[in-house]
Amino acid sequence: MGTGITGGWAAKELCERGLKTLVLERGRDVRHIEDYPTALKAPWELPYGDELTREEKARFPVQSRSNRVQQSTKHWWVDDIDNPYIEEKPFSWFRGYHVGGRSLLWARLCYRWSDLNFEANARDGIAVDWPIRYRDLAPWYDHVEEFIGVSGQAEGLAHWPDGKFLPPMEMNCVERTMKERLKAKYPDRVLTIGRVANLTVPHRGRGKCMNRDACILGCPYGAYFSSNSSTLPAATATGNMTLVPNSIVVSIIYDDKSGRATGVNVIDAVTKQTTEYFARVLFLNASTLATTGILLNSKSRRFPNGLGNDSGELGHNLMDHHFTSARGRSDELADQYYRGRRPVTLCMPPFRNVTEQRKDYTRVFHVTAGGYRAAWWRTTGELGLVGAPLKKGLERAGSVELRHPGSVLLRRLRRRRRLEPGRRRRVAQDGTAGSGSAARTGAAHTVLRQQRRLRGGRRLPG
Ligand SMILES: Cc1cc2nc3c(=O)[nH]c(=O)nc-3n(C[C@H](O)[C@H](O)[C@H](O)COP(=O)(O)OP(=O)(O)OC[C@H]3O[C@@H](n4cnc5c(N)ncnc54)[C@H](O)[C@@H]3O)c2cc1C
Ligand code: SF4
Repeated sequence: MGTGITGGWAAKELCERGLKTLVLERGRDVRHIEDYPTALKAPWELPYGDELTREEKARFPVQSRSNRVQQSTKHWWVDDIDNPYIEEKPFSWFRGYHVGGRSLLWARLCYRWSDLNFEANARDGIAVDWPIRYRDLAPWYDHVEEFIGVSGQAEGLAHWPDGKFLPPMEMNCVERTMKERLKAKYPDRVLTIGRVANLTVPHRGRGKCMNRDACILGCPYGAYFSSNSSTLPAATATGNMTLVPNSIVVSIIYDDKSGRATGVNVIDAVTKQTTEYFARVLFLNASTLATTGILLNSKSRRFPNGLGNDSGELGHNLMDHHFTSARGRSDELADQYYRGRRPVTLCMPPFRNVTEQRKDYTRVFHVTAGGYRAAWWRTTGELGLVGAPLKKGLERAGSVELRHPGSVLLRRLRRRRRLEPGRRRRVAQDGTAGSGSAARTGAAHTVLRQQRRLRGGRRLPG
């Protein structure tokens, strides 16, 4: 049940081992390449400059928090009005209901857990100890990485294990400088290229990445891992898979006599007809929340609170991602260039609470970062140029922005509201509007204040 990252893998593994496998997916079918409608569209071919209309925005209040819902991508996200949920505490439930699930939306970063993670509960004396350790999972990480293709750099850190990597993507000039300076000042901190399921060389019949940073449109080369490009075609090739899209699994059928789960209740999303399917093995891959919902729906005499919910814990202890962001500007390296739009950021693996334990907080975090040339509108805003001088200005490589990707949200906010010319000039004069378009909203002013603070003393590395 489900065709996202785990469902695609389940289909492949079961089919390759000779099981006749029925794959049920609640959303519509998405055929690899054929059904990526915007994959080869240039920005100017998209309506409204790729922005959503006001009416469309109103349909995606939750999904828009991902900052990835645009004209070019809106078909990948659920309509929040048609798919509401009660959000008592903030939780952004990002979803795509279609064949491929979130394997068509994800950022493709692939980091292995280590015993630092598996032993954390036992070390902190809370909750239940994991029943496995890294050595139990390591061969399975190998198995997955060898099939999907993960590019990355081995770093030899025990708490951030290396994998079976394809050649790493390249760091650009500003990132290499950042890495060197960081190492000189903080020898315990490693800055490395992200480990990502984008191919740097052809792999198992799929082409290599062309550095377009357009993965969320769908990849015409199959150069990043998705169920659609990789696992579902492998399952299809066995002749053992029957895929039925538009099949909403509602609950599991439990047979009190045999004490076994024997089948599923399904509603057809188009005709609304109900069907029961029976099988020897049931594999629930509808994602964390939907799978939990299906189990809670599956009530029987034996399981009055939902299948497998004797403890009453089903549906509890959910946690979202936590993000924070920072950005800065470097005027160095203004005469150096780099090519392409690499679809991955850098990563600084955990460096706190690894060998020592701080008193003020437990556990670890990692830093994602990157250095990018400031966008073309730096010239229009900063220097107020138009026409030939604008084109000339753009020939210069210009300054570089160093940012943690959380700040992408603020960049887009700024793009949306134009600032009246007088105010824009004022911002440019005090030297804080690095990209020229900064300070178009209140949020952007916050960024400017942060930048000023960073300039004043605590400069970002590099
Ligand atoms: C923007 C974004 C970026 C991300 N980046 C990363 C990253 O860089 N690295 C990383 O490791 N993870 C990342 N993730 C998380 C990753 O995508 C998920 O962990 C992963 O897709 C989960 O796989 P899954 O198979 O459990 O669920 P999904 O991929 O969500 O697939 C679930 C499937 O089940 C279907 N389904 C749901 N309910 C039913 C039902 N009742 N009946 C039948 N079918 C149903 C859905 O339509 C969907 O196709 C990201 C997620 C998002 C949204
Ligand atoms: S950036 Fe690479 S993987 Fe992503 S869509 Fe473009 S070619 Fe494909």
